[in-house]
Order: sequence, then structure tokens, then C-alpha cells
Amino acid sequence: MNGSVYLIGAGPGDPELITLKAVRILQTADVVLIDDLVNPQLLGHTRADARIIPVGKRGGCRSTPQAFIQRQMIQEARNGNIVARLKGGDPFMFGRGGEEIVALREAGIAVEVVSGITAGIAAPATLGVPVTHRDWAPGVTFITGHSREGNEVNWAALAATRTTLVIYMGVKNLPDIVGKLLAGGLAEDTPALAVQSGTLAQQREVKATVATLHAAMTAAGIGSPAIVVIGAVADLAQIAAHTESVAKAA
Ligand code: SAH
Repeated sequence: MNGSVYLIGAGPGDPELITLKAVRILQTADVVLIDDLVNPQLLGHTRADARIIPVGKRGGCRSTPQAFIQRQMIQEARNGNIVARLKGGDPFMFGRGGEEIVALREAGIAVEVVSGITAGIAAPATLGVPVTHRDWAPGVTFITGHSREGNEVNWAALAATRTTLVIYMGVKNLPDIVGKLLAGGLAEDTPALAVQSGTLAQQREVKATVATLHAAMTAAGIGSPAIVVIGAVADLAQIAAHTESVAKAA
């Protein structure tokens, strides 16, 4: 009999920001495929005899091709195993969970999705920044800074929406993105924020304006993995207070 696959959100980093449902499934899984943005402490929830398979794409390791990950999940499920696919944040937010569910369905494997807390909401929230606030943003746009060729983002059009822009994977292309937003009419003094390793003890952040954010990040040594927030709500970031509270907790 076939087993099944759970596409599970591990949350943004803080090991307490995972759901009870995710923990319950981790406690039963035979095989756990774990991404590299997942906090390794979460493996404490797995069975002592569970097989743990790291499929990370960074950290100096050779990346595991997506097709290989998918084949492996399908094979493990066909062998009758309960497979937990543990992904950073929410499995359907820029995490290739979409590709995985399609492949699993095509293979006739039972699959269930367990939502997680996404970094784009949780990282700004650590600083007291709500990605929506009815006085300053009619909504929020979650967007990748690293779009696929042929599927490029119309940054000028996004600038006109007045929504908060929450950019994932945006560090490398930030100067280019900012140039396009400004060309699209976004005011240079629009508040902006970058949060690296949000919700983790090593979290770092910087607040600036959209025009000065990249230089401020470089000066502060803030890089990937980071969430970039552009919009009036970024001005609500309480960086000093947060740093103090982390310092007290340490
Ligand atoms: N599925 C994940 C996102 C995967 S894409 C989620 O829902 O959060 C990977 C990108 O997410 C990183 O490049 C970075 O932009 C962002 N990211 C993930 N975890 C993060 C964290 N703890 N702090 C800041 N950014 C993070």
C-alpha cells in the first residue's frame, strides 16, 4: 500500500513558530526531507528511527535537484512510508511546494499540506511592523526578487498599487528592483526595511528609505536570507527596542 506525503511548513526559524499539526505529523513520519532554511532543532520532534534526508540548496552543499527531491518523495511513499517534507516558512510561499504537489498528484500519491508561518509576515512582525495597516497600506504584495525568465515582475506597476511590498529572495537584485520602483513613481523617501534571519537569535535588521536601503544593508553587512519590506508600514519598525529585548533575553 502507498504511504503518503505531507508538505509541512516549518515556520520562519524560531522553533516555537511551528504548528501543533506539523509537530504531530513529524512525530509519526518514517522519512523526513528537510530544507536548509528549516531550523535543525525541529528534528527533535522526529522519531528516533526516522530517516532524515537533507535536501538543502545552500550552505556550501551541492544543491539537490528539484526533480530528484520529487522522485525521492514519490519512491518513499510508494514503499509505504509516511513522508514529511519539511519546508521553511509556509510550503506554498515561494518554496516550490506548488511544483511538488503537482508531481505527487500526477504520481497518484496522497498528499496533505500543513500551512506554516511565512517569513514575509513573521520577520517584519518581530519589529512590530504589520504588513497591512489600514491607514497606510490597502494590502500587501508578496513577491520574489528572483523571478523566472519569461515571468518577470512589472515593478513599475507594483509601485502604483500603494500596497506594502514584501520581497523574498530580493537581496541580490535589490539595486535593480529599487531602480525600477523609482522609475515607476515610488517616492525616494518611502520607508524600507530588511530583516535577515528573522525570528532567530541571530536576527539582524536595518531600516532606511527605499533609495538608501541597499547602501544601509551593505554598511550593516546584512545579506541573504532576508525579507525586504517597502512601504509606509516599514516606518513602524522598532529596531532599538527589539535589539534591547533580544540582548536582555541573551
Ligand atoms: N517558504 C518560505 C520562503 C522560501 S523562499 C516562507 O514561507 O518563508 C526563501 C526566502 O525566504 C529567502 O531568500 C528569504 O528571502 C526568505 N526567508 C526565509 N526565512 C527567512 C528568515 N528567517 N528571515 C528572513 N528571510 C527569510
